[in-house]
Amino acid sequence: MRTNNNQKQESEGILVYEEGVEFPYHMIKSRRKTVALQILKNSEIVVRLPVGLSWQTGHDFVIKNKNWIYNQVMRVKEARAMQEEFHWVDGAEVLLHGEKKRLLVYIKKTGRGVEVWETGEDIRVVGRPPDGGNESQEPDIEQWVKASVEQWYKKQAKDYLVKKTTLWAQRMGTSFARISIRDQATRWGSCSTKGNLNFNWKLVLLPEELADYVVVHELGHRFHMDHSSDFWGVVENYLPDYKQRRKQLKDYGEKINLIYGV
Ligand SMILES: [Zn+2]
Repeated sequence: MRTNNNQKQESEGILVYEEGVEFPYHMIKSRRKTVALQILKNSEIVVRLPVGLSWQTGHDFVIKNKNWIYNQVMRVKEARAMQEEFHWVDGAEVLLHGEKKRLLVYIKKTGRGVEVWETGEDIRVVGRPPDGGNESQEPDIEQWVKASVEQWYKKQAKDYLVKKTTLWAQRMGTSFARISIRDQATRWGSCSTKGNLNFNWKLVLLPEELADYVVVHELGHRFHMDHSSDFWGVVENYLPDYKQRRKQLKDYGEKINLIYGV
């Protein structure tokens, strides 16, 4: 670790890992009460310190959290790489029920519309993209593929979730009114007091056990409209490992939102 302390309100340091991996970090003193460690989206490491603490305290804090920082930085870097690499084009890898499928795109020169289907190994998109506004404009093929596949996913989501919810409602001895499929950034599902259920179409991207968790969770609200211990008791009764699933769902959610954008 090298440092260059000075009288300013900012300082730098470098975390050195085995095999020569080095992460520089930046420290800032400000009017705050606790030390905070932040990994920014560009994987920059920022430590915020209360004015009264020494730079050494900051360096010690960083060293103490060395392994945590490493894991977080790698995660951020990986997510960024995935986001930059992903395009809705022929050959791209997309998800269906937690499995990677190859996207195959065939562009037709004649005809209208688009067909999307799944073969087990891949998801095929066959059709003719609409012409771009005027003759000089190329159709935006990537946008067309994205919209076509998303629409297909939404249709899959409806059938899949209606079936799944019907099954779980029977097992749990409850009922529901209507199921709507939504395009939401942060919610996987919701349940109204009337028993109307909303589900995020991205549930078809997840492994089935995570979709099961979301369905059981929402049906659990048919017994308790809150997140009380009674509510979690109902969920646990049907999914004893629900805590694990909940955590996986959170991890998946971050990745999915990065790739599929919202
Ligand atoms: Zn809930």
